[in-house]
Amino acid sequence: MKRDYYEVLGVSKTASEDEIKKAYRQIAIKYHPDRNPGNKEAEEKFKEAAEAYNVLHDPQKRQQYDQFGFSGPMGGGGFDGFGGASMNMDDIFSMFGDIFGGHGFGGFGSRRGGRPQHRGSDLRLKVRLTLEEINQGVTKKFKVRKDTTCTHCHGTGAEDGSSHETCPTCHGSGVITHTTQSIFGMMQTQGVCPTCQGEGQIIKNKCHQCQGTGVEKGEEVVEINIPAGVAEGMVVNVPGKGNAGPHGGIPGDIQVFIEEEENKTFIRDGNDLVYNLLLDFPTATLGGEVDIPTIDGKSLKVKIDSGTQPGKTMRLRNKGLPAVQGYGSGRGDLVVNISIYVPKTLSRDERKAVESFRDSDNFKGDKQTKDSIFSRFKNYFS
Ligand SMILES: [Zn+2]
Ligand SMILES: [Zn+2]
Repeated sequence: MKRDYYEVLGVSKTASEDEIKKAYRQIAIKYHPDRNPGNKEAEEKFKEAAEAYNVLHDPQKRQQYDQFGFSGPMGGGGFDGFGGASMNMDDIFSMFGDIFGGHGFGGFGSRRGGRPQHRGSDLRLKVRLTLEEINQGVTKKFKVRKDTTCTHCHGTGAEDGSSHETCPTCHGSGVITHTTQSIFGMMQTQGVCPTCQGEGQIIKNKCHQCQGTGVEKGEEVVEINIPAGVAEGMVVNVPGKGNAGPHGGIPGDIQVFIEEEENKTFIRDGNDLVYNLLLDFPTATLGGEVDIPTIDGKSLKVKIDSGTQPGKTMRLRNKGLPAVQGYGSGRGDLVVNISIYVPKTLSRDERKAVESFRDSDNFKGDKQTKDSIFSRFKNYFS
């Protein structure tokens, strides 16, 4: 299971490009192979961060990721950091080498400012949609059980407003510095303050309702807009509607996994719809007009040429499904696939009429038609 790109870089969903760059730079420096020779785990972390940065520093890719997560707009694993290609270290350096400042790791060791952000976890939902709903786009309501912000302390975790005080161990910085004697001389190392876990503040009097976490179990009715044109396997990301973040942190997201109900009339092929028309023999022979249903619920009058053969397809432009907003424009087509119905029983008069055609060469099929059927099947099987 891939980790969320924001989580990989340790930034919020609303992080600026600068913050993303900074976060990536720090991780890249930390897990840089030169600093961790032969360390496979560091190499994986280094690659993971590069992939996250590759997506998040590009506004277009980032928007796509925010909306659809890893699965991408076309579903079925279309979206994958480096477009499915696996990156080697040299690729990463050639792509992002400039982020190291051109001189190895300039500015190495700069400490991250601010306090740790507590992010609530993401929630996953499944929604089953009809083709009609997919055609129009739909708003769905879900009753979601989740961590909500504590109603008593409003997420602070403190029983009353004055209960926070500066951590006496780290004096509010969230970080402690150890000085140790080693064979290399005096060494300074920094770590997260154990008293406040990096918060810089401690709660003197914890909220009785949430025991100081700032969150409690709750329920919320969430309205989710599913854009038109989605497909099975896509993920619609709803930022900020997941579990509330502890200690007043930022909330997680809701990821909505799209499932598609089978349709009795149309077969979906990307954004095209396929309709199988069973044409009566006289109309196929004489020509005429038929009603073709559409996904909008209205039917279309379509002209049938005389001498229409089974297997003929007609393409009704822009009568398919809309493209998901931001991924192509317009609509797909409605492809009409023609079969011809041969009656299974005949009345006495009908039998007489059909028998009168039996010996006509005109009814036996010409070479041109045979050749075209042959080449159609040849293409199908090759
Ligand atoms: Zn509380
Ligand atoms: Zn502290």
